[in-house]
Amino acid sequence: MGSGNQRNTQALGSYFAIIDCNNFYVSCERVFRPDMRKRPVVVLSNNDGCIVARSNEAKSLGIAMGTPYFKAKKLLRENNAGVFSSNYTLYADMSERVMEIIEMFSPECEVYSIDEAFVSLRRLQEQPEVWAGKLRKTILSWTGIPVSIGIAETKTLAKIAGRTAKKSSEGVFILPEESDKRKQILEGVMIDDIWGVGRRLGLKLRNIGAENARQLSRIKPETARRRFSVNMERTVRELRGEPCFSLELAPPAKKAITVSRTFGRPVSSLKELKEAVSFYAVRACEKLRDQQSRAVVLTVFANTNRFSGNAYFGKEVRILPSPTFETSEIIREAEICAEKIFRQEKRFVKAGVILSGLMPLNCSGPGLFDTSSKRKKEKLMETIDKINQINDAGITWAAAGIKKPWKTAANRKSPRYTTCWKELPQAKA
Ligand SMILES: [Mg+2]
Repeated sequence: MGSGNQRNTQALGSYFAIIDCNNFYVSCERVFRPDMRKRPVVVLSNNDGCIVARSNEAKSLGIAMGTPYFKAKKLLRENNAGVFSSNYTLYADMSERVMEIIEMFSPECEVYSIDEAFVSLRRLQEQPEVWAGKLRKTILSWTGIPVSIGIAETKTLAKIAGRTAKKSSEGVFILPEESDKRKQILEGVMIDDIWGVGRRLGLKLRNIGAENARQLSRIKPETARRRFSVNMERTVRELRGEPCFSLELAPPAKKAITVSRTFGRPVSSLKELKEAVSFYAVRACEKLRDQQSRAVVLTVFANTNRFSGNAYFGKEVRILPSPTFETSEIIREAEICAEKIFRQEKRFVKAGVILSGLMPLNCSGPGLFDTSSKRKKEKLMETIDKINQINDAGITWAAAGIKKPWKTAANRKSPRYTTCWKELPQAKA
């Protein structure tokens, strides 16, 4: 931990803020349904299975996160609750709007999940509470989404401040400097509610006598590292007010991923069109995983020569059942699109796949939307990507065709010097 002096010289400007949308999915629904403002509202997971978002009124009814809908149905009906199936396209779009406003207010911004962003207050020109109040008001009036803002010296502490902010009427909370109040707040945060701890580590920490954030902050950092990991040491230091986790300023993820090509020769069979579209879907999914996102909207298009007599442009849009980056699932949908687009007498010269409604990986609350079998399939995808990165022959999908007679001619392409092991430039001595 930094010495006492160091702390005092730290201007408030070096603080972090977390901006967290309140009950995000519910708030999105309420924007377009003002009649739902005062009523309990819940949002259901894929296939209306479980409750994945609750308004405060629904929380007060005692409905827990992840409750199967059928178990809460009666209670919800008795309380005149609003019940919505999830609308990921809407949530992804609302999220983008909120994040754009946050970026206007603070150029150093890490979009942490669909409804949360960390920002650095390093270069802040005004009082943090004034800044936060303005940001909160702007987001509310431009998008209709209420947010809470927690501010503290480290990301871990900002998360804790955010919890208090959520309960306060102003929606903004700055963690006070060393004081009884601060101790009290840290004592009120249970061990597994600390950012980066979770249930499994929480159990182990309880065994060594750390049941809340204050107790964890008092463990020696060296002990935390020895008995757990470097990350645990960092968490301990962060709880003591020493920043260890910096903002992850990833390059802004693309808002849509497009893979399209002109065919090497016209395609007039459904089989070949499906193969081509599947092949582009494979590439698009790789890009999707590469930028750590899932998609909810799939667009497939194919067109004939537009200078020919009766040019045809076919397009199909599918909303996927839940956000995914899983190739086989997207291929399946892409093939359905291809079937709809296909016309017997047409000669297609180009096709493409667009993935949009993109969401960062960590936004979909693991374990809530995803069945464990889905999670397993996604793990498999990640493994295949790793294999394909080092081995160019790699693993491919049968649906994408083996010979690919329609493939764009690229006989004169230069080697992929930097991205493929087999094509690395060779030096001879
Ligand atoms: Mg939230």
